[in-house]
Amino acid sequence: MAKRDYYEVLGVNRNASEAEMKKAYRRLAVKCHPDKNPGDKEAEEQFKELSEAYAVLSDGQKRANYDQFGHAGVEGMGGFSSGGFGGGPFEDIFGDIFGDIFGGGARRGRGQRGDDLRYNLTISFEEAAFGVETKVQIPRHHPCEECGGSGARKGTSPQTCATCRGAGQVRYQQGFFSLTRPCPDCSGAGSVIKDPCPSCRGKGKVRGKKSLSLKIPAGVESGNRLKLSGEGEPGSSGGGPGDLYVVITVEEHPLFKREGNDVICEVPISFSQAALGCELDVPTLDGKVKMKVPGGAQSGKVFKLSGKGIPVLNGYGRGDQLAVVRVETPTKLSQRQRELLEEFAREGGEDVHPLGKGFFDKVKEMFG
Ligand SMILES: [Zn+2]
Ligand SMILES: [Zn+2]
Repeated sequence: MAKRDYYEVLGVNRNASEAEMKKAYRRLAVKCHPDKNPGDKEAEEQFKELSEAYAVLSDGQKRANYDQFGHAGVEGMGGFSSGGFGGGPFEDIFGDIFGDIFGGGARRGRGQRGDDLRYNLTISFEEAAFGVETKVQIPRHHPCEECGGSGARKGTSPQTCATCRGAGQVRYQQGFFSLTRPCPDCSGAGSVIKDPCPSCRGKGKVRGKKSLSLKIPAGVESGNRLKLSGEGEPGSSGGGPGDLYVVITVEEHPLFKREGNDVICEVPISFSQAALGCELDVPTLDGKVKMKVPGGAQSGKVFKLSGKGIPVLNGYGRGDQLAVVRVETPTKLSQRQRELLEEFAREGGEDVHPLGKGFFDKVKEMFG
């Protein structure tokens, strides 16, 4: 059986617009849909024919091929040669519903929210520990004062976009779906500015700096970020502003290292201090603190100074300071010191001449 001309199937002329074809297709599809004509073979055939015709003619490229080469130009392209009327074309009847689902949200909230901003803030170890209030200058845009943010020259106002009638979206056909995309004439704003404000060149916002007071809480660490709602870039077309994120970097401290909420501090002591015991001034976040080292302390021994660490962020209490004792071996000895040390060694039963011999003798003893 020879195929009928697609335009004839749809009952439209060859110059029919997309809208005209869609209208014709819907009218006929509803009439001959198999659900409405159960068991009616003729209706089923008609529906298939109709679906195929519309599938081709609603697609710009396929339609062009068909116009030039007839059925041969779209053979195997129609997509309905096998399989009946499953889904595809019939869904187009609900295209508007889909269109609303896809485009609805964007159309309603046409105003665009401003971008979020990131600001890197470097603070000292102590500021991180105890918190700090600081003023910063955030580079960001602010609404143009000249035009009040509208972007239109003072005394004028933006005009509703004629292309999308203010919706900011235009509808287009892709295959069987009616979809929406941002309006090309107003870039989705819904309005166009005929006479731009000279101050902001129609943008409605100008670059500037915003001075902000930041309250950094006690206990922050590198990588922590503070969110300041609404302090990001201003929105456009009535959209709200973005947020500002302040990202903290804590400077290294020459004496302190941080582990959780504890502060680690190495305390160098001399060999004799370690052996005899001593009282030391240990630096802490709260200033110098006296610390007793008992005689015989080994290098690496850790002394805990309770509650001298970092305050718990958004909580209560503080960590501890851990003072790690490092015994320093003297590198320069006076003649007198050398004699005393040699005497000290002999007193302890050590063989000090030559220095290394005692160790090698012990190795010999061990391994024979
Ligand atoms: Zn528009
Ligand atoms: Zn302006």
